[in-house]
Amino acid sequence: KMDTVPCWIEITSCRGLIFDKIIAKEIPSTIVYEDDKVLAFRDINPQAPVHILVIPKIRDGLTQLGKAEPRHAEVLGHLLFAAKLVAEKEGIVDGFRVVINNGPEACQSVYHLHLHVLGGRQLKWPPG
Ligand code: ADP
Repeated sequence: KMDTVPCWIEITSCRGLIFDKIIAKEIPSTIVYEDDKVLAFRDINPQAPVHILVIPKIRDGLTQLGKAEPRHAEVLGHLLFAAKLVAEKEGIVDGFRVVINNGPEACQSVYHLHLHVLGGRQLKWPPG
């Protein structure tokens, strides 16, 4: 039954490709930060007043954090630092959260690594 499914899992073989299209600017997004390695844009279905996704421009096998290899360490650090820059730009440094959903049990739906940067309201803990 649909109401017992904890999260929506897209069943396609190309479920990371939507972000490739955002990187290529083939589909529109509201970009808030960009450099040579990463792109940050507003989430289409925001869960907080500020909800931004930070993604690597080149996926290089990084469909999810659990697939990270030693060669990805630099871009992982770069993504986290970009998240901090985004929080500053959005004026939420007094309280923000950075989330990575890894795999089906964490409700990951897009298989291109992304950091969620959330803020602009009182955030609850623990998350659902
Ligand atoms: P979940 O969908 O459960 O939040 P993820 O952690 O994989 O799982 O997050 C994917 C995020 O990508 C979602 O928050 C979703 O709203 C966002 N998203 C999907 N398509 C787009 C798009 N075209 N533009 C901006 N955000 C998008």
